[in-house]
Amino acid sequence: MNVPFLDLKTQYNALREELHAAMQQVIDDTAFAGGPYVERFEHEFAAYCQADFCAGVSSGTSALHLALAALDIGPGDEVITAANTFIATAEAIMHCGATPVLADCDPETFTLDPEAAAAAVTSRTRAIIPVHLYGQPAEMNAFVRLGEKYNLAIIEDACQAHGAEYKGRRTGSIGHAGCFSFYPGKNLGAYGDAGAVVSSDPDLIQRVRMLRDHGSRSKYDHSVIGWNARMDGLQGAVLSVKLRHLDDANRARRAHAHLYRELLQDCGEIALPAETDGLRHVFHIFAIRCGQRNELMDALKEQGVGCGIHYPVPVHLQQACAFLGKGPGTYPVAEACALSCLSLPMFPELTAEQINRVACVIDETTRKTKQSGRAFQPVSAER
Ligand SMILES: *Cc1c(COP(=O)(O)O)cnc(C)c1O
Repeated sequence: MNVPFLDLKTQYNALREELHAAMQQVIDDTAFAGGPYVERFEHEFAAYCQADFCAGVSSGTSALHLALAALDIGPGDEVITAANTFIATAEAIMHCGATPVLADCDPETFTLDPEAAAAAVTSRTRAIIPVHLYGQPAEMNAFVRLGEKYNLAIIEDACQAHGAEYKGRRTGSIGHAGCFSFYPGKNLGAYGDAGAVVSSDPDLIQRVRMLRDHGSRSKYDHSVIGWNARMDGLQGAVLSVKLRHLDDANRARRAHAHLYRELLQDCGEIALPAETDGLRHVFHIFAIRCGQRNELMDALKEQGVGCGIHYPVPVHLQQACAFLGKGPGTYPVAEACALSCLSLPMFPELTAEQINRVACVIDETTRKTKQSGRAFQPVSAER
């Protein structure tokens, strides 16, 4: 039995009628760029996130970029974020002309380490972007306190954490602004690129709305230089349909994680993802760690099990970020994570049979290697 890493088709088939009707409506109304379907989704998503406002934009990257730009963050400013995030978080900072200052992650949860972030604060720091990596909420209380202490904006990168909760609060509504991606494979995915900024600060949202539409408050009245970063009407309509199913989809992901955990708990060669009390992890990614990661990945792929690495190269070791001058060894936990993490198949429509198959292949592979005298090692990244 083959198990794909991600399958968007099954969900499409289940929601086909609903989605087609919603998309047809947008086309009938020729409401393609921004417009009423985007506005409706903005209201629904703000309420879902427990925030007052939402501004739909063209991607998660533009959500981060415009949130920073709305706060007037620019050249000379520093913004702290995690070394082990997707490149887009750092890109958004650089698109503003500001300097990304990376900090290492926590060795248990792999979210940004608040102490490392605190140590990176300078007189130029304007904001911190904690990343709710893999769907696991970052330690938000610590970041909110840091923000208050040093007068910094806290911008949540919630691009992997739609519907995740931190001590009863939905991610995205805890800092000054939360940035979401609706890239098709995300927990809430559009049928193309889309993103959103949520916030309870009306000025910040007003600025994002201007900046996404060429810096205009009304048509052809441009008060500042902005961008073209609007959300498409079709995406708004698709997202409104899919938002109604998000809680069910996240519940399914959590149940799958639970089953993986049950099946793999006795496999001493791998480390399972941490879950913290009081936090609702929504498992955008189910990432295990293993010392012989590449061998295990090859074995899984050979047996028809799709898997991935999130992410194989941390931000500071990317060629595009060489100018930061941070070589290997600078962020040891992030680097260990890049070498040992392996993402298993995870999507709501996964079946118990498929999860059993994945666990079986992992079990067989690690057992065979053990018998050959080379035990796999779970990696615990120590600092
Ligand atoms: C997906 C993602 C982004 C970027 O979102 P896009 O919609 O692809 O631009 C940013 N940060 C993280 C953590 C992501 O996973």
